[in-house]
Amino acid sequence: MNKQLMPALDVQERMHSFEEVNLGYTKKQAIMEAKRCLNCKHHPCILGCPVGIDIPGFIKKVSEGLFEEAYHIIARSSCLPAVCGRVCPQETQCEKVCVLSKTKNGISIGHLERFVADYHIKHGKDVDLSIHKYEYKVAIVGSGPAGLSCAHDLIKAGFQVDIYEALHLPGGVLSYGIPEFRLPKSIVFHEINQLIDKGVNIITNAIIGKTLTLKDLKSMGYQAIFIGTGAGLPKFMGIPGEMLNGVYSANEFLTRVNLMKAYDKDYTTPILKAKKVAVIGGGNVALDAARSALRLGAKKVYIIYRRTRNELPSRLEEIHHAEEEGIEFIYLSALKEIIGDNHGFVHHIKCNKMTLGNPDSSGRPRPVENLNDSYHLDVDEVIIAIGTTPNPLVLQSEDDLNATIEGCLMVHHDTLETSIPSVYAGGDVVTGSATVILAMEAGKKAAHSIISQLKK
Ligand code: FAD
Ligand code: SF4
Repeated sequence: MNKQLMPALDVQERMHSFEEVNLGYTKKQAIMEAKRCLNCKHHPCILGCPVGIDIPGFIKKVSEGLFEEAYHIIARSSCLPAVCGRVCPQETQCEKVCVLSKTKNGISIGHLERFVADYHIKHGKDVDLSIHKYEYKVAIVGSGPAGLSCAHDLIKAGFQVDIYEALHLPGGVLSYGIPEFRLPKSIVFHEINQLIDKGVNIITNAIIGKTLTLKDLKSMGYQAIFIGTGAGLPKFMGIPGEMLNGVYSANEFLTRVNLMKAYDKDYTTPILKAKKVAVIGGGNVALDAARSALRLGAKKVYIIYRRTRNELPSRLEEIHHAEEEGIEFIYLSALKEIIGDNHGFVHHIKCNKMTLGNPDSSGRPRPVENLNDSYHLDVDEVIIAIGTTPNPLVLQSEDDLNATIEGCLMVHHDTLETSIPSVYAGGDVVTGSATVILAMEAGKKAAHSIISQLKK
């Protein structure tokens, strides 16, 4: 039996809409896909999952049509299955090591996870809402996947958990970064609300480092603190023309689109609706910005990337979808200058051609610039998506917190404790920009360190 394909919105329809692209498996598809699983004794897929979901266990329940039971198996390890089923790069994790992947027919674990989580959202009753008698009190800074997953494991252990979030809505990148057509916000808030129902308290508009410091939190009686403030500070290129009107960082562009709903005519959030857009970079962020610009009405959207398609770091599914939607990928190219018109707006860009050299420290071939081979491209908007660094506010307000030159917090490898005792950190603020599931893994690991430290 072959893989069940994920049904998707028609290309012409979705290019002009922020509706979710993937439609999700039907019950019949989910059962057929689940029945292909071999329930391997050594289950390599579980080892490929950073949060250790019992993958064969939940898939078996799906094959028997017991979808709620499948959900409860997943929920033991993950508080964000509907999110992860949509955005995890499964092809480099659980699905990569599935024994059936050797024949390119691996189980679509992510699609099944999404099916089960969506089934639960529609039909499920939620799990224990027991009132805990809290013995310990922990503060979490940041409500992205790292903070939420830490909160999940702490509340399960009977701790009081208060999350302090700088923005007016929780979720981190899930709310402000990843667009609606990939990750509907109703899904994100449903999973966050389940945590709130279990007793997690989320305090929004609270900027730690400004509104309150870590010392304030300690004096408020928190016995441990987890910092999961992410890596939301955009990098720029330092090239001429970056200050022109019409140049955005991908973070600003996507925050306006997602968190501030610039795509929705009922909102007044200003955003440039350009005709020709160049997005610089090749990761998920670049693809999200490019596909959002298309949906805002751009006639032509280019992705300018220094390497080739083989090295694109974004999820495979997003590359396919972007190509189907007509996004033009210009490989082996580097932006050198943005040239403006007489009114200070972007008019065109100058790029240099590249070739691939020997592998660099990332293991990918190093892009080498051909200084004498350049070209111009007419565009009226440029979105820079070349990476981000950790949000610096907590670090700037604490002398005793150690960090790398790039501003990543330094933690003990086994416990994730920072240089300040009882203060832990994890997710993008430690690793730099990574993935949802790695941030969740870090949140879990820190929760377990906190539990064993406080219960000692
Ligand atoms: P974040 O999600 O960044 O959350 C940190 C939170 O802390 C934020 O809400 C922030 O407002 C808050 N905060 C910051 N400073 C303070 C402060 N001083 N006080 C209080 N709160 C504070 N990963 C995938 O796996 N798959 C994808 O498809 C994918 N697509 C992506 C698309 C985009 C556009 C972006 C930007 C990232 C994408 N990623 C993807 C990466 C993934 O989202 C991140 O790795 C993940 O969200 C990191 O989680 P985190 O909890 O460490 O940080
Ligand atoms: Fe099923 Fe693949 Fe895991 Fe084997 S490795 S149990 S086939 S998902």
